[in-house]
Amino acid sequence: MTYRGRFAPSPTGPLHFGSLVAAVGSWLCARQAGGQWLVRMEDIDPPREVPGAARDILATLPAFGLVADGPVLYQSARRAAYDAAFEKLRAEGHVFPCWCSRTDLAARGGLHRDGLCVAPPSDDRPPAWRLRAPDEDIAFTDGLQGTQRQNLRETAGDFVIRRVEGYYAYQLACVVDDAFQGITEVVRGTDLLDSTPRQIYLQRLLGLPTPAYLHLPLARDAQGRKLSKSAGAGALDPAEPMPALRRALAFLGLPHDQPAATPAELLAATSGCFNRNDLARRSSHPDG
Ligand code: GLU
Repeated sequence: MTYRGRFAPSPTGPLHFGSLVAAVGSWLCARQAGGQWLVRMEDIDPPREVPGAARDILATLPAFGLVADGPVLYQSARRAAYDAAFEKLRAEGHVFPCWCSRTDLAARGGLHRDGLCVAPPSDDRPPAWRLRAPDEDIAFTDGLQGTQRQNLRETAGDFVIRRVEGYYAYQLACVVDDAFQGITEVVRGTDLLDSTPRQIYLQRLLGLPTPAYLHLPLARDAQGRKLSKSAGAGALDPAEPMPALRRALAFLGLPHDQPAATPAELLAATSGCFNRNDLARRSSHPDG
């Protein structure tokens, strides 16, 4: 089977250092495997989308030497596929409509469990749709973080797969599209480690293959907070890519000071000596 990796940014702001780490990490894993690297624009959340961000991200990636091996997949064009997955889950009784607000659920530790709603059904407003979380441990072995195990009922509870506004949730769209794009390994930041058991459970219900997973250490700001586009983390400068690219490689524990005139040359030099175990060493010394 051909290795296929991907980078899947959300257009909530320009690319920042944290997203560059994920993009470079996934690119190197794909190159090392002699496989393909795809880009998917996760533009399924219009209220959080920043106008122009998708275009900006797609213009910035090649400036850092990151060129996709195929056309960009836009999630905004994939509604019919999400509808079909949703209908399958509904027909098989895995989802239910829910009118509970966050406030309703606060008394229950913020989790919705066993399909039991607090708020009554209402004719006046549309429901969210939740997937019933089984009282079951979902385990997987992460390529970097080792064995992971999560009881979905205890940690995630019945989770939303279609929001009140009618938008599909990230978990559903991600699973449908990883399968559609034939992704064999998902490489992304550890902020998404706890989403993976929900995604694996959805894959099982939808009869989709489960890719391998590798969660990279997360870049943080001086206060120890995750860098995020929506929180205004510093945008990368596509006119001056080399310093940030070298920092991203250093952050991943990889050689970063090889002579190179362009990002493409630097990435090629790094992929020539790339070893996944170097990533592992870096992640076991997150502050190093
Ligand atoms: N769109 C997500 C983000 O920007 C990443 C999704 C993924 O890699 O699965 O945080």
